[in-house]
Amino acid sequence: MKFGGTSVGTVASLRNVKNIVEGESGPVVVVVSALGGITDRLIATATKACGGDASWREDYDYIVDRHRAIAEGLLPDDCRKEVWANVGEILQELHNLFYGIELVGDISQRTMDRVVSFGERMSSLMIAHVIAGARLFYSPEFVKTEKRYGENIPDSQLTDSLIREAFAGFSEGVAVAPGFISSDRDSGKVTNLGRGGSDFTAALIAASLGADVLEIWTDVDGFMTADPRVIPGARVIPRLSFVESMDLCNFGAKVIYPPTIYPVFHKNIPIIIRNTLNPSAPGTFIADEHVPCEWPFRGVSSIKDVCLFTVTGTVPGSLATRIFSVLTKNGVEVLLDTRSESAERHESEVSFATREKEAERAAELLSKEFDAELSNGEVKRLTQRHKLSTLSIVGENLKNLEGMASKVAGTLAANGVPVLAVARGNSEINLSMVLQSADLENSLRLIHKTYLE
Ligand code: ADP
Ligand code: ASP
Ligand code: MG
Repeated sequence: MKFGGTSVGTVASLRNVKNIVEGESGPVVVVVSALGGITDRLIATATKACGGDASWREDYDYIVDRHRAIAEGLLPDDCRKEVWANVGEILQELHNLFYGIELVGDISQRTMDRVVSFGERMSSLMIAHVIAGARLFYSPEFVKTEKRYGENIPDSQLTDSLIREAFAGFSEGVAVAPGFISSDRDSGKVTNLGRGGSDFTAALIAASLGADVLEIWTDVDGFMTADPRVIPGARVIPRLSFVESMDLCNFGAKVIYPPTIYPVFHKNIPIIIRNTLNPSAPGTFIADEHVPCEWPFRGVSSIKDVCLFTVTGTVPGSLATRIFSVLTKNGVEVLLDTRSESAERHESEVSFATREKEAERAAELLSKEFDAELSNGEVKRLTQRHKLSTLSIVGENLKNLEGMASKVAGTLAANGVPVLAVARGNSEINLSMVLQSADLENSLRLIHKTYLE
């Protein structure tokens, strides 16, 4: 059972967590995030300290107060003092760290990784005492990462065997473990699985221990046809397949952190999305099954801050192969791509989208790869467009609805929204369009209203 930031953010929501977990009969591993908003606040405080802004101390006080409220409101009388003293030591360490950052006026990635680890360190320590009879497990001891293309990626094999070892004696009751945080397999320094990564921690543990189910408890009634924060008419989807959920998440549905789905999918462990704030709602059941759908597609999701590259040229061999091999080799994620050939001009054109934060690196890699061709004219154009977003529709019905791509693009065009690129995903169950970010919200509403309401 994984409880996200909103589930563990306040005394009231944490009381629900306590009731939900204590109502379980079998052995259960509970993975918790930092108290809601604390990870953002840790980053903001460190950034202020780094810039010499003395108000970081007020932010620090806010972090202390949030944790104190939980301690005072929920820790049992017999351990409150002791646990709060332990949290106090961690908070003192955090204060020293911020102060050090202020003095040095600089912050490395490794230091920031240490800063953000405090959120889950403190939340898990307190929650392990809030839930009756729970035992605390420390995830960085068994979730191990390695560095790839500047990112920390789990070493799956090592992590798998360490999780089994750590939980070997655990056969009843409740285990509590911090989500998100891990450690580097070589240096032992604390790392993390990326923002939203607590879901992933829970999936790794569920897969290694062969759990019956992975429950993700959050602040909405289930996986919905669209982000309810943007689309008020979004509906809960009672059941969906792993593949559909993967595509919806890969294309931006924040409800599950995308890498989460793979480990449980491979072990055929279903995922259930539930609402901590409304525990009687049945939620969404995600499994390896075909679920009939009465709508043209299951849902719609989107990614903001996307860059669209277009490369045109007469490069001998395949232009696309060279582009995608250099990007893949260097760990740049391509969200979607389209290719076209002009036989009479022997010219190919390849367009692809990346996240904005990876665009600069992608541009550098392409300039290097096509250095000679850009000088001799074999690559005629290499352009980038910024401030874009992707809008994706996903559903198994799309396999059989040939005309749906032009229909949806037509709906947008008829409402004056320029569609800059359209691409069908490899799984054939998604269709993505690239739009200007300024058009995104209206387009999501329009597509949802036209096809899903
Ligand atoms: P947690 O802190 O529990 O991990 P997140 O904020 O990461 O919660 O994820 C839950 C949020 O995901 C919801 O509040 C909702 O705004 C957003 N969301 C985006 N797309 C969807 C979707 N298709 N279905 C449900 N929620 C979605
Ligand atoms: N606390 C981390 C974050 O805010 C991890 C998580 O909540 O899943 O990104
Ligand atoms: Mg999340």
